[in-house]
Amino acid sequence: MVLEEIGQPLALRDLPKPKVDKGQLLVRINTCAVCRTDLHIVDGELPNPKLPLILGHQIVGRIEQVGENVDGFSIGDRVGIPWLGWTDGECVYCRSSRENLCDRAKFTGYTIDGGYAELTVADARYCFHLPEDYGDVDVAPLLCAGMLGYRSYRKTGEARRLGIYGFGNAAHLIGQIAIYEKKEIFAFTRPGDKPGQESAKKLGAVWAGGSDEMPPEKLDAAIIFAPVGALVPAALRALVKGGVVVCGGIHMSDIPSFPYVDLWNERVITSVANLTRRDGEEFLKLAPRVPVKTKVETFPLEEANTALEKFRAGKLSGAAVLAVSSS
Ligand SMILES: [Zn+2]
Ligand SMILES: [Zn+2]
Repeated sequence: MVLEEIGQPLALRDLPKPKVDKGQLLVRINTCAVCRTDLHIVDGELPNPKLPLILGHQIVGRIEQVGENVDGFSIGDRVGIPWLGWTDGECVYCRSSRENLCDRAKFTGYTIDGGYAELTVADARYCFHLPEDYGDVDVAPLLCAGMLGYRSYRKTGEARRLGIYGFGNAAHLIGQIAIYEKKEIFAFTRPGDKPGQESAKKLGAVWAGGSDEMPPEKLDAAIIFAPVGALVPAALRALVKGGVVVCGGIHMSDIPSFPYVDLWNERVITSVANLTRRDGEEFLKLAPRVPVKTKVETFPLEEANTALEKFRAGKLSGAAVLAVSSS
């Protein structure tokens, strides 16, 4: 069973020493941030995970070994390893810089082993150099919540009034960029979540309310980070003509039916899948300029399950980051 198999702290078992192939890096892990997707995997909501599996796809570490044919990385470099871990480089998507849609893509901490561990092996093509401005703990949540949030945000184009449904880690990071770029943020939380609304306002949102409320003005675009399908028609109704709803999560409950008139007038519903290397590079360049600040709660690797349970219960005070070793 998925739960039993991957609920165990596999990282602490005696694993065979990783082998570094051509194009790969052996990385000693310093930190790994915890993502909602990790919970979806543990709960069996994403099909066909590698089993047994080491979770974790927001990895920060130092290179210990460099495989043949690797350019641009040396032993001792600090690297970030994100969700998109491998693509074939050959399919129609890869050849048009849309490797995020690769038919044969493999994902860190899902279909290849991830970062709830002390060592990992990664394909160098998908590793990032990380900005010096950030420490190992603070930079980890940028690698998924930040990068995927950034891809969602870019899909809203020139939108000035931007709704964000689900004000968690991704919203917290992207909200800072949006405000830096002079956008107006309208934050939607669970109905009655006053602390969530307060924290959105503190970040600079011009309005914060429950997801059952209509914003005071129509929105040019909305991003949905909460995995709740019912928010799609709700967000559509809050849009101006020609507005776009971007679904930023990998998993969402079913979207209920809604009248065509809510979509009419060239409103658009789209989704974001994974990330391209370009998204990652752009985001890591922009983040220190804003500067995007992360809010984190750290756990030792041994307490990975505690971190997941606190995430599930909504009891974290920031992004959960596993502190594995210090660099
Ligand atoms: Zn993630
Ligand atoms: Zn491909």
